[in-house]
Amino acid sequence: MLATNSPISYRQLPLRLYQIGPKFRDELKTRFGLMRAKEFLMKDMYSFDVSEETARESYSIVSAAYNRLFQQLEVPFVKVNAATGMMGGSLSHEYHYISPVGEDTLLQCRSCGFAGNSEVLEGKPASCPSCNSSNLQEVRGVEVAHTFLLGDKYSKPLGATFLNTSGKPQPLVMGCFGIGVTRVIAAALEVLSSEQELRWPRLLAPYDVCLIGPKQGSKEQPAAEVIENELLLKVGECCGHQELLHDDRKDLTIGKRLLEAKRLGHPLTIVVGAKSADLDSPKLEVHLSKGEKLELDVNEALKLVAEHSQHKKRLLMGSFPRETAESKSQSVGHQL
Ligand SMILES: [Zn+2]
Repeated sequence: MLATNSPISYRQLPLRLYQIGPKFRDELKTRFGLMRAKEFLMKDMYSFDVSEETARESYSIVSAAYNRLFQQLEVPFVKVNAATGMMGGSLSHEYHYISPVGEDTLLQCRSCGFAGNSEVLEGKPASCPSCNSSNLQEVRGVEVAHTFLLGDKYSKPLGATFLNTSGKPQPLVMGCFGIGVTRVIAAALEVLSSEQELRWPRLLAPYDVCLIGPKQGSKEQPAAEVIENELLLKVGECCGHQELLHDDRKDLTIGKRLLEAKRLGHPLTIVVGAKSADLDSPKLEVHLSKGEKLELDVNEALKLVAEHSQHKKRLLMGSFPRETAESKSQSVGHQL
């Protein structure tokens, strides 16, 4: 497209064009659902610059945005130097989720978090290229994103040029950046979930809270429904009504609905059951991820919902209070 419209002016640069759309690949070994399918959703972007130097600036701006995105998803990830391979170019990084179902072999340092793709690291190094520790382990990685600095590898043969300050045509200097959107979802669930329950990254969960009321005809129903209605209002005000799923299928037992809630993977599930009918100190059952269960009164439960919403807000604003091993490994990877 840029070649057809060439030459554009240096004043129009840098230019970054992206799309999110379906891709098709004649995959021979389709498996793991969305992880390796013939059709998938991908975000890809191409950057166009006047020089190698400004192209590197674009590369580091986009890389910083990728780091931010993967931190926001709160799934442990590593960023590794990658082989430039068939895309060519001079600089390339991959983002991986560590999981036994991964198809890449990575070497990770237990001391500083540095990770490398074993197809890039020469042979099998005995010590960490970053901190010299010998505490290296082999792990499997699922590639969820990839960045390349392409230079003029494609712009030159295709004749995609711009007019420089002296009015002379010159090849655009390109970068390319991809995120496997469907793969991120599948791999994140793979990493976070257990056999018994699904677990979403907080920002991707379809709902923040699932509210399960008493069973129709149970003896606690009248008292519990008063609390259920109060929660319906207050939880909705706290996290936003669109983030609250009310499982009002009262013909089903609480146990059956709770099992389904775990399979859907809500970050918080609040059960208004038998103990909520205790007039002196009514209690709710609050189920968190990883099978954790708390017995709380209404205010304590609402506080938990508020904390969850605040945490999401902080993530969206890009503030990450916890210094994690992952964020350390990124900064190391970023030094190239
Ligand atoms: Zn190290």
